Amino acid sequence: MEARFAPGQLAMVFPGLRGWRYGLPCAFMMCHAFAGQAIPEHKSVVSLGFLTLAPLIAGLLCWWRGRAGAAQGWLLLALAMLLWAGGMAANVLVYLALGNVTGESIASMLLFVLYGVPIIFATASPTSEAWPVRLVDAILAAALGGLFFAHTSTFSTMAGASVEGAGKLARMFDIENVFIAVFALVRFSACRDAAERAFFKALSVYALLYLMTAAYINHWQENADFGDMVDVIIDLPFLALMVMAAHAQPTQDRPVQIPLRRERLVQAASPLMLPATLLAVATALVWTHPVWTMAGFALATLVYGLRNILAHLRNLEERDRLDALSRTDGLTALPNRRSFDVALQAEWARACRSGGSLAILMIDIDHFKQLNDRFGHPEGDCRLRDVAKALASCATRAGDFVARYGGEEFVAILPACDAHQARDLAEIMRLCVLNMALPSPAEGGVVTVSIGVGWGRMTKANTPEALLSRADEALYEAKRGGRNAVRLLEDLPFPNAAPG
Ligand code: GH3
Ligand code: MG
Ligand code: MG
Repeated sequence: MEARFAPGQLAMVFPGLRGWRYGLPCAFMMCHAFAGQAIPEHKSVVSLGFLTLAPLIAGLLCWWRGRAGAAQGWLLLALAMLLWAGGMAANVLVYLALGNVTGESIASMLLFVLYGVPIIFATASPTSEAWPVRLVDAILAAALGGLFFAHTSTFSTMAGASVEGAGKLARMFDIENVFIAVFALVRFSACRDAAERAFFKALSVYALLYLMTAAYINHWQENADFGDMVDVIIDLPFLALMVMAAHAQPTQDRPVQIPLRRERLVQAASPLMLPATLLAVATALVWTHPVWTMAGFALATLVYGLRNILAHLRNLEERDRLDALSRTDGLTALPNRRSFDVALQAEWARACRSGGSLAILMIDIDHFKQLNDRFGHPEGDCRLRDVAKALASCATRAGDFVARYGGEEFVAILPACDAHQARDLAEIMRLCVLNMALPSPAEGGVVTVSIGVGWGRMTKANTPEALLSRADEALYEAKRGGRNAVRLLEDLPFPNAAPG
């Protein structure tokens, strides 16, 4: 996937920005660290401002990267950043209204928790899936958001989380962050596509940094207030994400070596990530909201089942498509040699049962090598398509079967017709091609075909191979006789053939 305009290209427009890709985030942290010290009486709101700004800028860069044709996950990551920035902005509003932030508002808690939902969706729902499957994934993600909401409201009040509630929320954040980091790493470890790989790499680095930062702040710095120096650490994952989002879009120059088995395993297991997270969060609610737990379990099971049905349907359709493809010649869209072999066996068996006859026409374009040499292979391919269309248009009887035998040779099976009918149809085909007057460097100036007709009454001893070699022999005769001709070799003597 090629980017139209990746943010990394900013550095091309403004060369000075190249070194600043790292310099600007460092400057941001320094400003954050010292701005609070410069205005001590407002250090909380200043710090909250920086903490809103960091995910906001990271989100804007992710959005930019996403809309420039990179992996779709960037847009979901941008949404996650927006939710997180919203959580911090809610704290700013509380500060502006109350003059301080004593505990965090439920709105900010909720936004911090919900921020994980688009990220989990990005890791769990492969972009290659059809939209109905992705819709089902989105329903699961929305259900996950609902359970997160229930969880958050259990431990928080509008006035702020209780001490015990804050501890439980911190543990829930840990679980969510661990899930995200593990999912991102798993997807990265098995991703071959350069654009997707760059996304999952960035997400893994960001998620690990975020996991460590959140754990440190929530468990070791739980008494710190907004405005303390430690706030600067919270910037780290967002600044790292900014740097990675602003990186130029990678190209697929160097193919990544990933064991196929691992890739398949992760592809197959990814759909389990959303229901697994849903089950984990639902389980955590069992003591406070058992009904929610049951609803979460039921939803995870049913929606996952529905997803499997949709994915299975798609697989069956894909199998049918590939099956049809494997029986069709790619150039002419006629049935291919494989199809012909199957059809010949089937017609032979039917003719044997009914004691009927079978005719095979071997059709070969005359002097095709000269045509290729003079006009080139692409022009030769066009002629092959034209001739294929013409031959197929002549075989209008139900049961007649025309296929590409290989190279510039075609073949037709004509069940239940006598030798003369077969020869007449071959003659119609020859004239049809001749009358198209397709230019050829061969003598006569137009494309012609030679046709050998093999005809026989089918018995167990009279095999399809024998009939085929008879048609081949007739074709050879037609060629030897000067080309642009039809020859018929009919009936017995087939070795050991039973009388018809
Ligand atoms: P003859 O009249 O004796 O049949 O002579 P010919 O030149 O038609 O037969 P020959 O077997 O010498 O050459 C067949 C040519 O068909 C050679 C090959 O390059 C060409 N050919 C086979 N498959 C394709 C194809 O898919 N596309 C094109 N353009 N040419 C093909
Ligand atoms: Mg040939
Ligand atoms: Mg030929």
